[in-house]
Amino acid sequence: MPPKNRFAEMLPELTAIRRDFHENPELLFDVHRTAAKVAEFCRAIGCDEVVEGIGRTGVVAVIKGKTDTKGRVIGLRADMDALPIHEQTGVDYASKTPGKMHACGHDGHTTMLMGAAKYLAETRNFDGTAVMIFQPAEEGGGGGREMCADGMMDRWCINEVYGMHNMPGIPVGQFAIRPGAIMASADQIEITVTGKGGHAAKPHECIDTTVVAAHIIVALQTIASRGVDPMKQVVVSVCTVATDSTAHNVIPQVVKMKGTVRTMDFAVQDYVERRVKEIAEGTALALGAKAEVVYQRGYPVTVNTPENTDFAAEVALAVSGKVDTDTAPLMGAEDFSFMLLERPGAYIFLGNGDTAMVHHPAYNFDDNAIPFGSSWYAGMVEARLPAV
Ligand SMILES: [Zn+2]
Ligand SMILES: [Zn+2]
Repeated sequence: MPPKNRFAEMLPELTAIRRDFHENPELLFDVHRTAAKVAEFCRAIGCDEVVEGIGRTGVVAVIKGKTDTKGRVIGLRADMDALPIHEQTGVDYASKTPGKMHACGHDGHTTMLMGAAKYLAETRNFDGTAVMIFQPAEEGGGGGREMCADGMMDRWCINEVYGMHNMPGIPVGQFAIRPGAIMASADQIEITVTGKGGHAAKPHECIDTTVVAAHIIVALQTIASRGVDPMKQVVVSVCTVATDSTAHNVIPQVVKMKGTVRTMDFAVQDYVERRVKEIAEGTALALGAKAEVVYQRGYPVTVNTPENTDFAAEVALAVSGKVDTDTAPLMGAEDFSFMLLERPGAYIFLGNGDTAMVHHPAYNFDDNAIPFGSSWYAGMVEARLPAV
């Protein structure tokens, strides 16, 4: 089955919407224009309920099927925010705001979900309720977490939830998914080493924080190499090292380090958090200094429920004919993970063709993917809530 014909008819309208979003990117929770356009659209197409301001600037639109014999509710999610990047696509609908750009294709995600909403509101050929979730602040702000914290799942009695992201390198119209962990957790570490500064020619009168920091950096590498099961993925990277001295003959009093931790497993994440603290504090202590560790948890692992992954892949196969059901997980993070912590569901990739990677200034969402994405969203509702 190809994409639903209705989306081929809608493509000019949806492309115009996508390009309007592209031209007017907004960051984090500051997606007021985009959210207002989404809400206005959802009201115009006859959604049964449209609520703004969920998770600060998220929008929830509800569409009821022809019947509701079982009280089942499916959530479909798209993200609306852009990135702080100077666009270099050269397209005539490029960002009008220097330094802001839809470089992750969330303009496309929002548009595809709007298209699915229009189709579902027209046809209502399902038994139950479809809830369209348009979230702000996917790019670091935790908009998905905020919408969940606002009680969205319980308020609309959502039973299961599905998300989609475009992916360069996969042909347009093809899908990729996997059961289990598909995106990593992303945590931040900050380590402050305090010793005793002084003259670099008198090291015996100092506690050299630079040497302590170096030992900590090397010792942290044993978390991945010696501590975690080699069959499990983990990244521990120290990315910034800054001393309070710029001289060549002063031993600094303080060294600050920043880094990131990525895992694919909640138990590994807990282990790494504990070990970063033990290694930094213990190494500093052994060398006469003091280390303070701030371990800040970011987005959790995005874990696809196996059963729902199968449903998502079946619908994708019906739409496209080509689905990779064992795609490699990515070490990037995604805050749809917060919704998957609350409800079973799945997160799928939709090909964006041979374009620049997401977050690159030359990246652009391919409008030809719209009928496939909209068909998948709508197809999930019709497949999971079959008409009676
Ligand atoms: Zn992104
Ligand atoms: Zn994204």
